[in-house]
Amino acid sequence: MICEISKKCGGCQFINQDYQKSLEYKNSYMKALFKDFHVAIHPIIGMHNPYGYRNKVIVAFNKNYEYGLYQEHSHHIVPYSYCLLHDELTDSIIHKIALLLKKYRVSIYDPRTCKGEIRHVLIRRSYTTKQYMIVLVSTKTMLKGSRNFSREIVKEFPQVKTIVLNTNTRDTVVVLGEKETVLYGKGFIIDYLCDLSFKISAKSFYQINHEQCEILYKKALSLLSIRKEDIIYDTYSGIGTIGMIAAKYAKRVYSIEKNKQAVKDAKINQAFNNLINVYLIQDDAGEYMIHQIKQNVSADIIIMDPPRSGSSLEFIQASCQLGPREILYISCNPETQIRDLKNFKNYGYYFRDIYSVDMFPFTNGIESITVLRKH
Ligand code: SAH
Repeated sequence: MICEISKKCGGCQFINQDYQKSLEYKNSYMKALFKDFHVAIHPIIGMHNPYGYRNKVIVAFNKNYEYGLYQEHSHHIVPYSYCLLHDELTDSIIHKIALLLKKYRVSIYDPRTCKGEIRHVLIRRSYTTKQYMIVLVSTKTMLKGSRNFSREIVKEFPQVKTIVLNTNTRDTVVVLGEKETVLYGKGFIIDYLCDLSFKISAKSFYQINHEQCEILYKKALSLLSIRKEDIIYDTYSGIGTIGMIAAKYAKRVYSIEKNKQAVKDAKINQAFNNLINVYLIQDDAGEYMIHQIKQNVSADIIIMDPPRSGSSLEFIQASCQLGPREILYISCNPETQIRDLKNFKNYGYYFRDIYSVDMFPFTNGIESITVLRKH
């Protein structure tokens, strides 16, 4: 399969190369990166079918109702007719939306003049239930002909379970605004991940590649030896997924996440799954760990999954001081992970091997996992 616009779009770096070759490239990259550590580097876990994996797609339109991503550093849309990372239905729905916006003469937002209505369309898909959500991002709080618009979409695509109008009036690159109006359905879709159910709304944080996410979580948790009496800290926890999955094997899980919206989502899903031994805390992970030391508590297991910039020295120091038996470090940027692993070593925590998962095939992303233990 060939992508004809890859050079202009810039969304993925390896799309027109053999998938196995891209995995080999990632393996040698990891080997080179960790060469001074003398640890085992396990081959990256790839996908059987690496196409169509994205559960979330955002496109913008030009005034001719063509859609695609913005070219890097520009207001120019690179139009596409299909994207190899999207499933076919997602692109068919977007195509229909473009036709309807044109039909109902809904204007397109121009970021240069800040005039016009529709800024973006966001499609979310549940991999397990096959439910779809459409989010129309507009500068207005109403959509002309919204009832007919919704009716026409749902008639052709019964998989679309909800349609939301999100209003974003700010001059910003952030896609979603604060206000939401549900045009059709309940405003969320349901997905299942590692035996738990998740409600996904327009603004929810959620993993983009469902299949690989399950593999990542299962692999990561299998590296730990969780005991029934364990207290686990799931830090940089997002909507709390990893901690919630680990909760049934442990006594208690504390999930620490800085982002308010993510914690809100986590609380909804905690209730949805009736998880009584999970405690969701909105705080800076480093500050919270320092606070825990002052409270004189200890930790059995710490899970950390920081953003691309990695963790902080305060966090690492405080985590080691809490004396966990094991620290599971999941990273979306092996370069900052290495820096942090060196810091852990200074506090007596060592790792013996590195696993990695190809979470975003055809892009240069690598998700790497390791477990640190006290020497
Ligand atoms: N573990 C989650 C999310 C990982 S993404 C999952 O598997 O889905 C990293 C998360 O760290 C984001 O949700 C981000 O908001 C959060 N974060 C970033 N800096 C933080 C900090 N200093 N303290 C706590 N959380 C932080």
